[in-house]
Amino acid sequence: MGKVFLFGIDGAPPELIFGKWLEDLPNIKKLMGKGAYAKINSAIPPSTIVAWNSMISGKDTSEIGIFSYTKNKEGRLVNSNDIKCRLMWDILDRAGKRSIVLYVPLTYPVKQINGCMVSGFMTPGIDSNCVYPERLRDKIKSLGNADIFFDVAVGLAGHKGLDIDTLIKKTYEMTDMQIELLKDLLVKEEWDFFMAVMIGTDRLQHMLWRHFDETHRRFIKDSPHKNALKDYYAYLDKRLGEVLEMLDDDTGVIVTSDHGMIKQEGKININNWLIDQGYLKLKKEITEKTRFSADLVDMDHTIAYGGGAYNARVYINKEKVGEDYERIKKEIADKLKEIPDDKGNPIDTKIYFSEDIYKDDSDPECPDLTIYFDDLRWASNPDLGQEGLYSWKTALGADSAGHSRQGSFVICNGGVLNKGDIGEIEIKQVAPTILKILDVEIPDDIEVEPIEVV
Ligand SMILES: [Zn+2]
Repeated sequence: MGKVFLFGIDGAPPELIFGKWLEDLPNIKKLMGKGAYAKINSAIPPSTIVAWNSMISGKDTSEIGIFSYTKNKEGRLVNSNDIKCRLMWDILDRAGKRSIVLYVPLTYPVKQINGCMVSGFMTPGIDSNCVYPERLRDKIKSLGNADIFFDVAVGLAGHKGLDIDTLIKKTYEMTDMQIELLKDLLVKEEWDFFMAVMIGTDRLQHMLWRHFDETHRRFIKDSPHKNALKDYYAYLDKRLGEVLEMLDDDTGVIVTSDHGMIKQEGKININNWLIDQGYLKLKKEITEKTRFSADLVDMDHTIAYGGGAYNARVYINKEKVGEDYERIKKEIADKLKEIPDDKGNPIDTKIYFSEDIYKDDSDPECPDLTIYFDDLRWASNPDLGQEGLYSWKTALGADSAGHSRQGSFVICNGGVLNKGDIGEIEIKQVAPTILKILDVEIPDDIEVEPIEVV
């Protein structure tokens, strides 16, 4: 009867974690030496809320039912009630196992599970439905500034509005509070499965990349923050070490990210491009920079419109194109592939057709095309009123790195074999792997196999 402890590090890139920063991360290095590690292929798209939920369900994006942060049709943010599939704690509840679930993206509003749940990123505030059981609310308030307990700033991308010094300070403050509660529940609660996701790495990476990566086109030479990201990783590793001391060797340990991170060359104004190409018509011309909304679109004269923050998404107006759907989709995909960078050089753009990547693409929220411009080195900017095809910031602000396809995954203890580098795994494989360690039957509807280390 095993136990599993999963420590999530949002967006940890294998190039840095397993590569040039490894010597500064002695605890992660130790785990790698004891068990197995891999690059973890993220969900499509490699979006935080999609990827974590794919990891703990064994399901693809369409089965989860979450394609992006907003429901286009309803114009509202998604929340945990929109998730269509069973998650790890639902499966474990039925098997009589107890879960402690901390700060997992898109767990707001929380569910009354067999165990404890504290929601994460996208929680509106400490007085919302963010804790179960209720007694955890006062505990969180006692830890410090509860306004930044769930994220460094409110909103989807509030971190982009903070100056760097404030961002760094708040990230440490948030992390300390989150680790404090984690350690407290680790010893005080009974559990079979314990999961906590640290979002601080993602927040810092988006903003700090150009401070340390000298190949970045907007690199800041001699930045006072050039070591800030590495220092934070070293700090997180140290705090992880304290937590690992509290576990025995029978407990399976997983340290994993949901996606990786990659320097951002710039953003491609997807909706500007669709307007220029004659696929998108707005109700009226927009010259001020404006967040895209489907309300602004003249649907009677529109063939396709776009979205996305790092990956781009194209939605085809199926009512309008009718039987021409397949032809138009291919035509748009072919043209998108030809978009060069801002200097006219060809780029390595990947395009996914919904029917090729999703089990069920009938959801009206499911994009017809998902586009990784230059394998995600170029981001997507859906804002309207942009000048030309390229931009550096959106209405939400600027950042200097975006999400990449592969994150970092380490597993050891709890009977896991010492296999070292096992290459690549799929994010969906984590769920059945956890169940196997816990000796819980893997439900038939999880079709992927556990990783071959258990
Ligand atoms: Zn991110």
